[in-house]
Amino acid sequence: MKKRAKKLYDEVICPGRSFQERLFIILTWLAEFAVVLALICDFLIGESIQETLSLLAAAIVTPFLIVICVRKKKTDLGALVVAMSIVFILLPIAYFYGGGLTGGSNIWIVVSFLYIGLLLKSFPRKIMMIMLTLLTIAEYTVEFWCPELTVPHTRPVWYADSSVSVLLVGFLVYAVVYIMTKIFQWENARAVEQAKEIEELNKAQSRFFSSMSHEIRTPINTIIGLNEMILREDISDEVADDARNVRSASKILLSLINDILDMSKIESGKMDIVIQPYDVGAMFSDIVNMIWIRASEKGLKFSIDVDPSLPSSLVSDEVRIKQILINLLNNAVKYTEEGSVTLSIHCNKTKPNKVLVTYSVEDTGIGIRKESIPMLFDAFRREDQKHTRYIEGTGLGLSIVKQLADLLGGDVSVNSIYTKGSTFVFTLEQEIADERALGKYEPARFRGARKHEYHQTFEAPAAKVLLVDDNTANLMVATKLLRDTKVQVSAVESGTEALRLTAEEHYNVILMDHMMPDMDGIECLHAIREQRGGLCREVPVVAMTANAGSENQALYRREGFDGYLLKPFEAVELEKTIIDFLPEDIVTIEDEGLRSETDKIVRASRKKIPILVTTDSISDIPRSLLKSLKIPIVPYKVYTAKGVFYDGVEAEGDVILKYLDDKDVTARSEAPETADYEAFFAEQLSYAQNILHISTSKNTSHGYEKACEAAVSFYNVFVFDSGSLSSGTGIMTLAAKALVDEGTTDIKAVIRELEKKKSKINSGFIMDTTEYLYRGGRLSETAYKITNAFMFHPVIQMKNGYMKVGRVIVGGRNRSRDKYITGTLSNPSEIDTSVLFITYVGMKKAEIDEIKEKVLKIVPFEVVYCQKATSAIAINCGPGTFGLLFSRK
Ligand code: ADP
Repeated sequence: MKKRAKKLYDEVICPGRSFQERLFIILTWLAEFAVVLALICDFLIGESIQETLSLLAAAIVTPFLIVICVRKKKTDLGALVVAMSIVFILLPIAYFYGGGLTGGSNIWIVVSFLYIGLLLKSFPRKIMMIMLTLLTIAEYTVEFWCPELTVPHTRPVWYADSSVSVLLVGFLVYAVVYIMTKIFQWENARAVEQAKEIEELNKAQSRFFSSMSHEIRTPINTIIGLNEMILREDISDEVADDARNVRSASKILLSLINDILDMSKIESGKMDIVIQPYDVGAMFSDIVNMIWIRASEKGLKFSIDVDPSLPSSLVSDEVRIKQILINLLNNAVKYTEEGSVTLSIHCNKTKPNKVLVTYSVEDTGIGIRKESIPMLFDAFRREDQKHTRYIEGTGLGLSIVKQLADLLGGDVSVNSIYTKGSTFVFTLEQEIADERALGKYEPARFRGARKHEYHQTFEAPAAKVLLVDDNTANLMVATKLLRDTKVQVSAVESGTEALRLTAEEHYNVILMDHMMPDMDGIECLHAIREQRGGLCREVPVVAMTANAGSENQALYRREGFDGYLLKPFEAVELEKTIIDFLPEDIVTIEDEGLRSETDKIVRASRKKIPILVTTDSISDIPRSLLKSLKIPIVPYKVYTAKGVFYDGVEAEGDVILKYLDDKDVTARSEAPETADYEAFFAEQLSYAQNILHISTSKNTSHGYEKACEAAVSFYNVFVFDSGSLSSGTGIMTLAAKALVDEGTTDIKAVIRELEKKKSKINSGFIMDTTEYLYRGGRLSETAYKITNAFMFHPVIQMKNGYMKVGRVIVGGRNRSRDKYITGTLSNPSEIDTSVLFITYVGMKKAEIDEIKEKVLKIVPFEVVYCQKATSAIAINCGPGTFGLLFSRK
């Protein structure tokens, strides 16, 4: 019995069945059960023979109907037959022979509506609903007008029939609702389970692709590297030819892997699109450098025609645009035997801050048949097999181009005349980052182009390079590739050995593999940075990896690597990476052509400084000072009814004040989001090994909290709570910068010094009125009216990191300002006279000069910065507010 119940249960909830099928089985069985019970009751209470017989027939036929319909997978039809039997046969009989309104049949009408609503679909459902409605009305009407047609019940039968029916229907409805809820719960649990499985599968797929990329790249690295060494030898033409073929075959293999990886990423929705400003000219130079050499090798003319009005900096994903254009240009070169390949770029301003850029790649090659064009962007499709059979490729390139263009919100199309040539057009609307026109574009082509035959780019016999990789073949390849540069290479197979060497020797640069057993590259990097007595704590470390993918680049940057080199690499790439980190005095440049002036600039800026001090825009440091001291700031945001502005960047305090002149408008200033801080830190880490971010007091805004949340993602970002406000934070920032400039490279030591200084900062302001306290909701209207009438001037003071109304000065403006000055500077001998900030809101120069004069009479500060406060202070304190911010000894 138990087994049978289990079988029935399994059959019903069997996930292979559709929801409708399961409902049919459950509802019809329940109905059968109810009919049998009703039948028994009919016998007991002596119901009319017609009704009893009709119920008996239903009780016998229904089980067969259920089994046949389920077996034949015709449950829809079964449900319709059941519904029709109920509506046209059972209900009328039960009504007229079962006592009409004095019976229990009317409650079964409700069950019939439920059955039809739940089990029938589309057209049959509508029809049956209408029929049931009409029949119900008809039954009532007929009974009303012709009561003699109904077989009446005696009073006891009426009550018995009605109560049995109500109870049966009640239980039936209860059971339906209960079972349906259960089914929904099962379904939900199953969906959650499936989502988990899919996620696992996705993860497994990503792991598979990442390890496949790694596993394939590692041997290709050896092939390409050693083949390069063969090419450098004095070899016969035949061997050189063979080696060149090995080189091109390896490159095809490599691009195939990259394509497959890209494709899988796009398909799993993991292709990251990073929208940010980029330099348009630099992007074209990169493209030209890549394509020009390929075109000239085939004897093709390559030209680039750039619209001079193109803005010099745009906002989009530079990497993906480059990928699209290089794909199209590579195809153009590949499928053109003679003639030319041209890249033309035109732009059209669509909105005040947007341009529609049209990139056309035109060739004079084999062209594409008209009928092939509609399928051209499908994956794995290669057209015109006859002509392209011997041309390498997979048919993935254009599909990737199309999908990348879609992801960017652009469009690609093609125009082609078979045998004459093709034009691929890629259009993309982009935001303008720098309005200035690019002007006449002169590609810096031959500069970066590689020479056909290898020649080392530099020699540096005094340079010391440490290579760390558990794969000996990789070590051998990199060592051999560096042979001609004469650098001293030490190669070790593990992090532990690397640490032994870094304790004894100072290297100029360390190249570190990521995936190593025991201690991986990231752990080893951290160990080097923290190595007690280590000689390489500040030495640049470059991650070497066979794992392609932008997520890895982000990871390396976050962990504090100074660069990133993707295996397999060519000699030139390896040399370029190393030369960037070598001191100029030990390097002799061998190939000036390759090291242009711009390369030098890049090189100079790529040397990372040990500690970069950064702060928030509300630190109120003069812009010129920020610029000269190279202190980057994160802008706060000002929210107004007119939009959101970046504090101090797009909206100065004065502008916001003008806006606030209107008494009814409000504005609020808010800290950047965690993601803003993350992006800021990530960018700044291109220039520095560590970041020390000085934040305003954690009790005055969310900046500290958000910056700390962002810093968690980085190994080398430290956030310091200045415990101050406005230029008080500015003073702490300048102090941090001074410590770093003195040569302190231990960030913890800098933080310890700042901790000591923290309590000594005087940061406070005197407000002109209490109006802005009231407008900011910190004062009731009555309190505001009273304080204003009595000319109250609140003095806001930072104490132990908290902002407090320190005291209130009562009286005329000038008198209270004087009182504030003398009060604040009451113990001149304790004051550190090196720097004072007079930070103010909406005041005239003459007023500030007067204040400055008065201050200097009391304390002779060496440097005085008169600084307009950013909007955050302006919004909260209002015009006429100013503060004296300095440090005590
Ligand atoms: P493949 O790796 O085969 O080049 P693509 O997706 O890049 O794959 O291109 C798909 C097909 O489109 C190619 O096989 C080729 O037949 C055709 N094709 C692409 N670009 C051109 C072109 N510039 N001229 C002629 N045919 C082209």
